[in-house]
Amino acid sequence: MQIDQHLVLFFEAIFNMKTVIIAFMTTGLIALMSVGTYILEHRALKIRRRRFTWIVHVVETASVLLSMLIIRSTFYAINDGSVLTWSYATAQLTILLFALYTMWGPAIGMLNIIMPVFIYSQGIYLGSSWRYAPIFAVMVTLLIAGIVYFAWHRTEVMASKWQYFLLQAIYGGTWWFIIWAIHPFNLFFTVLMLVIFMAYIGALHRGIQWMSRVLERYSALSQQVNFDELTGVRNRGNFDTVKAEVFEVYRKRTRNPITMAMFDIDHFKQFNDLHGHTTGDAVLKYVAQHFEQELLAQQTHGELFRYGGEEFVVIFRSVAVTEAAAIVSSIRSDLQQRTLDFDGQALHITVSFGVSQLQPEDQTFSDWFARVDHYLYQSKQAGRNRVTVEGKTLITN
Ligand code: GH3
Ligand code: MG
Ligand code: MG
Repeated sequence: MQIDQHLVLFFEAIFNMKTVIIAFMTTGLIALMSVGTYILEHRALKIRRRRFTWIVHVVETASVLLSMLIIRSTFYAINDGSVLTWSYATAQLTILLFALYTMWGPAIGMLNIIMPVFIYSQGIYLGSSWRYAPIFAVMVTLLIAGIVYFAWHRTEVMASKWQYFLLQAIYGGTWWFIIWAIHPFNLFFTVLMLVIFMAYIGALHRGIQWMSRVLERYSALSQQVNFDELTGVRNRGNFDTVKAEVFEVYRKRTRNPITMAMFDIDHFKQFNDLHGHTTGDAVLKYVAQHFEQELLAQQTHGELFRYGGEEFVVIFRSVAVTEAAAIVSSIRSDLQQRTLDFDGQALHITVSFGVSQLQPEDQTFSDWFARVDHYLYQSKQAGRNRVTVEGKTLITN
């Protein structure tokens, strides 16, 4: 056969309806993986727990393997039991490469290193010749070098156009020659396939970039809607949503406690009056961040909201009043022992607390809230810098 006849056959084998189906599927799977990864990793950043990070790695790796299996089964079905096609290999490589780009963990890196060794061994096991083993050895070394380099210089590679292009060329090039070492197709077509692979990956990459920009914009929007601009903690609107949700849930689960704590900065007006509003703002920010960080560091499940002005609320889901009171008392005395150095001034800040657990008698959320508010008032009346827990005012230092 003439080379141009081969070319016609080659293009017919690649550009057909099956390829279109697989291309759509691959794109869909990658889009799903990217959105899933984005959500999971943002959660992980918020929760900041070691165990959760591990779960993220496992889920990510499982989703990659599952995607590869789905592609395999689909090919098997539409190609009458065969997966030996150009587009099949392209689809699988695309999934692997995108996982490497969009996911965090060392597990994805390992998967990318194990996969070529696995594919080659499988090829040999199924009867391919050893003849091109040296080529495999060189290619797999290059591929691993590329992956390791990428793992250490991730942001740099993603930011630089030529480094990104080079990585893609190394990835695609080494992989196609690894495949070639077990299925020595016409070399010309192998190179042609590499070019097609790179064009496809390039187009997909642009699509994913566009999608992550949309996600970023959405997340910035939800940040604006749910978080207070000055202090960075959850805002009143968010509190209103959460309060309705928790009240409904916890009123039914009487054996599962929930505690609310409310605090107000003592003599806050004086910071404004004596030092100006900028200092007042700095105090607000400092107190909010102190509580937010301590609640997070102690893994207390406490959710902090700025209720309004210099008043804040903490909701402790599944925490009884004694435990919640101990937590806020300790964070409060920690605040009292520190000073905020702002604009050359050493500022002493104290807060007053009201703490109460949801009771079966509470008919509405307001019944519970009014009680907490009253306890806070009681702390103020008793001289400020106090915690009132279920009606008892304590001084904790
Ligand atoms: P108390 O110990 O009884 O709580 O006294 P206080 O001075 O803290 O209470 P008061 O309610 O009299 O004063 C609260 C002040 O907080 C009044 C208001 O101008 C100020 N404030 C409310 N929101 C902000 C803000 O976002 N920034 C600044 N700088 N001040 C604020
Ligand atoms: Mg106050
Ligand atoms: Mg107040």
